[in-house]
Amino acid sequence: MANNGQPSRPAVVKCVFCGTVNRVDLARLSAGPQCGKCGRPIRLDRPLAVTDADFEKTIQGSSVPVLVDFHADWCGPCKMMAPVLDDFARRHAGEVLVLKLDTDANPATPSRFGIRGIPTLIVFEHGREARRHVGAAQLQDLEKLVALKEAASGV
Ligand SMILES: [Zn+2]
Repeated sequence: MANNGQPSRPAVVKCVFCGTVNRVDLARLSAGPQCGKCGRPIRLDRPLAVTDADFEKTIQGSSVPVLVDFHADWCGPCKMMAPVLDDFARRHAGEVLVLKLDTDANPATPSRFGIRGIPTLIVFEHGREARRHVGAAQLQDLEKLVALKEAASGV
């Protein structure tokens, strides 16, 4: 699998500009992946919004752990933890795919996972739920939740 370079880490992400679903190699983020359709950059150093329609495809297509923040606009604790999630996504770009799902606009997915309180954070590995955290979380909580092998990378 691994040659001299990094083994590839495929993921499926939707272009925020045109909505086209792209396959991206997370091991090669430094090359600056671009949307195959509109050519604009695909940025993975920030949380990506997902919807009921593309949730499953995104979770199943990822070779790295996926952290999903189930949130809503009216939720105070969700707003408070938004910068924490942004920070986490920036620090772990390429290692973890960070997604946000608006539970008001997308009720089907939260109901499938029995989500009652928000924010709820769920980590998916190989397309399945691995762990979850209910309530606002700090950066350390997120790192623990995702169980990063190389956690504490200079923090
Ligand atoms: Zn595009």
